[in-house]
Amino acid sequence: VGKEQREFDYFVLALQWPGSSCRNVSMCCPTNGCCHRAELPAEFTIHGLWPQYQDKGWPSCCTNETFNENEVSSLFEDLERYWPSYRCGLVSSCSNRKGSFWAHQYEKHGTCGSPVILHQYDYFFTTLALFFNYNVTEALEEADIIASDTKKYGIEDVFRAVRSAFKANPKITCGKKGIIKELRLCFDKEFQLIDCDATKSCPKFVSLPEFHELSKPAMV
Ligand code: 5GP
Ligand code: 5GP
Repeated sequence: VGKEQREFDYFVLALQWPGSSCRNVSMCCPTNGCCHRAELPAEFTIHGLWPQYQDKGWPSCCTNETFNENEVSSLFEDLERYWPSYRCGLVSSCSNRKGSFWAHQYEKHGTCGSPVILHQYDYFFTTLALFFNYNVTEALEEADIIASDTKKYGIEDVFRAVRSAFKANPKITCGKKGIIKELRLCFDKEFQLIDCDATKSCPKFVSLPEFHELSKPAMV
């Protein structure tokens, strides 16, 4: 912890798809986690904002600062709604400290945002602002790409939908059978959208499984 690491080059805003993140119920909270909240949205939610190096890799756990929920209490309502955790229990972060998903994201990634992001309030506020400014779920809906357990979409159509809304290429990650797990947008240090790296992890056809409360994995 507190390792000296060189300054990052750009940011990745990682968004997760609830129908995929919560697909395997055993990985989600069995009792009161958000995977069982009836109001869980059929929309991408925030995973984190990650400082990144141009030439592969990323810094992590850059300072000894720990998450302090008092600093972000004014953001709780939005954080709970748009940055939920789909896992139960505490997450180990830098130096094996245990904390919430938010604490993990801040300590692992957020502490590496210097000189652009210097305080935890900034980290969470900025991430929410980017999420609101670039509504990926809406961009896909515009192209009729919506949650479905039966439809498959051409991966190129998904890219095209994001490009046509935001004029930049996202990075998309997939799980088994081409379920989209994450969609990531990339930003320079002035928070202008830029193309993400072009490495591919998805097959030609992909899907956005629906989220099923307390149910078996979605059929895809
Ligand atoms: P996964 O293997 O699930 O894609 O990623 C596991 C963890 O590695 C993520 O939660 C994240 O902390 C980190 N990670 C994966 N890919 C990237 C990336 O491209 N940039 C950064 N900064 N972290 C990543
Ligand atoms: P990362 O290191 O990849 O940024 O974050 C992944 C860590 O956060 C894992 O230890 C994972 O168990 C935990 N975690 C808690 N809630 C979530 C969630 O909703 N999605 C993901 N991908 N990881 C979560």
